[in-house]
Amino acid sequence: MIPGNHPRRKSLFLREKLVDGYKKGLVSDEGLIAHGRGEAFDYLIGERTREPAKKAIKAAAAALLLAKNPVISVNGNVAALAAESIAELAKEINGKIEVNLFYRTQKRAERVEWRLKNVGVGKVLGVNDADARIPELFSERRKVSVEGIYLADCVLIPLEDGDRCEALVKMGKRTIAIDLNPLSRTARKAHITIVDELTRALPLLIEEVKNLRVKDEAHLKLILESYNNKKVLGEMRKLINL
Ligand code: ATP
Repeated sequence: MIPGNHPRRKSLFLREKLVDGYKKGLVSDEGLIAHGRGEAFDYLIGERTREPAKKAIKAAAAALLLAKNPVISVNGNVAALAAESIAELAKEINGKIEVNLFYRTQKRAERVEWRLKNVGVGKVLGVNDADARIPELFSERRKVSVEGIYLADCVLIPLEDGDRCEALVKMGKRTIAIDLNPLSRTARKAHITIVDELTRALPLLIEEVKNLRVKDEAHLKLILESYNNKKVLGEMRKLINL
């Protein structure tokens, strides 16, 4: 039980969710460590959504609305921390959801699927249909669903690793990352990088999708054209003095 007035309340609450996901077989050992790296950066950015992240969220919403076949890639940490928001976002953008694990085992893929179905997701790709391969990647990490990431034109990759992000960009997909580390390879390789904590960023992204849905295509394209990821990452680094 976390005391209501604890200064790190939200952070401790997320840890609890992650540990619960770990015990339920969704989160890997390495997933717990990756969360720690994220926490350190979140501490530095002040544990709140900063202005550059808001610009990235707006561009991400425009990109998702313009996409013909958007796919959200979900790993164990994402499922443990934010399954409900992922389900809601997929509905709002009419997008698909695919399980994509760095340390893939069939059992863990099925646990992630179970978590997503529990919050109302009808169809989860990447569990029994990961028959396509991302070129240039090796081992289990390259397996993707033909119907999902393989044919997607836009992929949202919350908490991705740099190699896979780079490979998706090379495949010609518009790539949107959510990553608290503005220096990571993922952050630097993605077309749009939201440097914010996952559970803070997703509700804001859903709100922005709802706001922008009424706008015409030209308006959305203009948002994307005027967005500069390198500049936004620079602003974020400046904020935390890196
Ligand atoms: P890269 O391969 O892109 O250089 P990395 O090796 O540092 O990155 P990984 O361990 O593959 O990263 O993935 C963890 C990444 O996810 C870290 O950059 C971390 O900052 C970020 N991260 C972890 N938890 C969260 C969270 N809850 N919200 C947003 N980002 C997070």
